[in-house]
Amino acid sequence: MFREDLKKLLQSFREEDFYKNVDLHIHSYESDGSLSPVEIVKQAKERGLKYISITDHNTIEAYLSTNILKEDIVIPAVEFDCFYKGNLLHILGYGIDIDSEVLKPLYAKNKAERSRNIVRLFHLRKPEEVIEKIKEAGGIPVWAHPACCWTLSLEEMLLDLKVRGLEGIEVYYPYNGLRGILKFYSKEHINELADKYDLIKTGGTDSHGKKLLF
Ligand SMILES: [Zn+2]
Ligand SMILES: [Zn+2]
Repeated sequence: MFREDLKKLLQSFREEDFYKNVDLHIHSYESDGSLSPVEIVKQAKERGLKYISITDHNTIEAYLSTNILKEDIVIPAVEFDCFYKGNLLHILGYGIDIDSEVLKPLYAKNKAERSRNIVRLFHLRKPEEVIEKIKEAGGIPVWAHPACCWTLSLEEMLLDLKVRGLEGIEVYYPYNGLRGILKFYSKEHINELADKYDLIKTGGTDSHGKKLLF
């Protein structure tokens, strides 16, 4: 799918879609999830989902090692670990060309780099580099689960990332269930910021387990 078409598709999703038939944030066993990519697609189809993305940490192995991109419901994606002004943050790239050379240096070199939290800490990228490369690879950069960041001003951080090319923000996801850390920002706040700065709103369950969280 072309970048502009994907952009329109992402913009067409509404909040209710993300709780019903679209899940753009799922991990497979190629990073720290439990299911195989093929099993994820199977479960998604059984549940009648219209669109899904497997967003493994620092790897697109789910797409390279299977034929799941042949399925109409699958949008290719990846989730990169970044470090920015004292914050760990995750940037999702949707619709990237999985053969793109520009992203290859950013991918994990081995299984530990894409699954173990502690190892991943040593391979943090700068968000501006990640955002730029995602776009060069034809993808759309989106800030994942922003309320997980501990920052005094999420708005300032967002503005800074937008200046660096960020195009979307994950608004619809399980705020309380995620990562078990204290959150300072609500969905309503993130939603307002997304409107204010004209960002694409995405969502997903961040499923890691044996069943999709729908
Ligand atoms: Zn994440
Ligand atoms: Zn994730």
